[in-house]
This record gives sequence, C-alpha cells and structure tokens, in this order.
Amino acid sequence: MNENEFDGKVALVTGAASGIGRASALAFAAAGARVVVVDLDEVQGRKTVELAGGDDVACFVRADVSDQQDAERMVETALSKFGRLDAAHNNAGIEIAGKSIADLPREDWDKVISVNLSGVFAGMRAQIPAMLESGGGAIVNTASALGTVALPNQAAYVASKHGVVGLSKAAAMEYSAQGIRVNALCPGVIRTPMVEEMAAHDAGFLPLMNQMHPIGRLGTTEEMGAVTLWLCSSAASFVTGQAIHADGGYTTH
Ligand code: NAD
Repeated sequence: MNENEFDGKVALVTGAASGIGRASALAFAAAGARVVVVDLDEVQGRKTVELAGGDDVACFVRADVSDQQDAERMVETALSKFGRLDAAHNNAGIEIAGKSIADLPREDWDKVISVNLSGVFAGMRAQIPAMLESGGGAIVNTASALGTVALPNQAAYVASKHGVVGLSKAAAMEYSAQGIRVNALCPGVIRTPMVEEMAAHDAGFLPLMNQMHPIGRLGTTEEMGAVTLWLCSSAASFVTGQAIHADGGYTTH
C-alpha cells in the first residue's frame, strides 16, 4: 500500500456504528480518507465520527441499507459533503435466533435477506455510478465464512451471505474493466460486543469458538478493518471478484 494513498479519497461504510464497520471506518480515516459513516444507530454512529477525528474527517448518515432511497441518500451525502466516492464497504448485517427451516417464520427470512443481501444490492446500485464519475473505485461487501460453508439452523443468514459472495462476483464481472474492483470479505467469528456478551454468559463459548478456528483464537475488528483497507488499496489492484476469507482457518475443515 502506498503511503498516504487514501489522502483526498472518500470512503463510505455501512453498519459503521459498531463492530467491524466502526473498525473499517476508523481504518479508512487513519489512512487519510474522508469517511461517510452509515447506520441506523445515530448515537453510536456519531461516536464513530468522533473517534474518526470529527466533522472535518467524517459525517454520519442515518440510513436503512435495505431501503433504496436511503442508499441513494448516503451516496448523495458523500458527493455533496466530500465531492467524490472512491471506496465503499457494504457491511451492515443482522442475525436472528437459530431455527430449522420448517420452523423459520417467513418474515424472519425476508428480514435477513432484505438487510444482508438486498441491502448490499441497494448500496452498490447507488455507489457504482458515483464511482464511475470519480474514475473508478473499490467495493468490499461483508459476507461471512458462512458465505461459502453452512451451519444448521441459520438458513436465512447462510443463504444471504452466499448471496453476497455471488452478487460480489457478478458485480466484479460487470465493472472491473471500468475500474471498480468488487470483493466479498468473509470473516470468521470476530470479537464484537455481541460475541463478548455471549462469552460473558457462557464459560464454554470462547473455548469452543477458539477450537473451531485453527489459529486458536477469534478475530478482531481491527483485523477486519485492515483487510478491508488493503482490498480498497492499490496493493490489491489485481484482486477482484473474490471471497476473501479472513477467518483464522475456520473454512479449512
Ligand atoms: P454489529 O451488530 O456489531 O454491527 C452491525 C451494525 O449494522 C450495527 O451498528 C447496526 O445498527 C447496523 N445495522 C443493522 N441493520 C441495519 C440496517 N438495516 N441499515 C443500517 N445499519 C444497520 O455487527 P458486526 O459483528 O460488526 O457485523 C458486521 C457485519 O459482519 C455483518 O454483516 C455480519 O453479518 C458480518 N459478520 C460478522 C461476524 C462476527 O463474528 N461478528 C462474522 C462474520 C460476518
């Protein structure tokens, strides 16, 4: 990665009020980019702006990624506030309580697909024209290790994340020659607040999770931010249409 290569660049990160998205927004800001922080959670979203360096460096947009008009609005904000769009990390996602397919309420299925998969489509549909205007760019869509392997009782999540991998490949085929690289980020289990809470309530949780990752530990949000930044940098200039597993080896078995 060239030093200062994100100076003058503009990145947009969804789900940036928490976890992986916040770490990604902070990584872009630390590398010199201006950052559009997108989330439903206004309080924590504004906290991310503050952590990134304040209003000169970042701005917050309250938006629901599954809503096409909201997706257009977040890109319009990037253009009106910072003048261009070079990188997008479509990261917002939800999980629901585990149920087998026959017991999974249709509305739960619709909700997960709507945020995790249609939200990525809505985001790219708005971002791609702006990036073409800016002379190209890079998009990272957060899938999951469960974007290429499955777990029982997580059908909607698994299907949505496999969809994100496929959608990222399709976008890469359509736009790479026009200067927009598109990749899917596939994290293993990452120590986000939700995971920390599970660990606090169940003494067996962390040892079991650690064992499922050959590296012997869970990932950190900072590690996901670093991979996202790399994927959007010139160091990854020949990487497109890939499901990049940053999963401590979870998918090796
Ligand atoms: P998180 O819950 O800490 O953060 C997700 C953020 O997305 C929240 O701030 C939430 O308000 C926001 N959000 C949810 N729905 C939204 C919507 N409709 N519009 C806008 N914002 C919305 O989650 P995280 O663990 O940081 O996960 C981020 C992404 O990484 C998700 O797509 C998740 O599926 C994926 N992922 C996480 C892990 C993990 O172990 N944490 C592993 C693999 C993949």
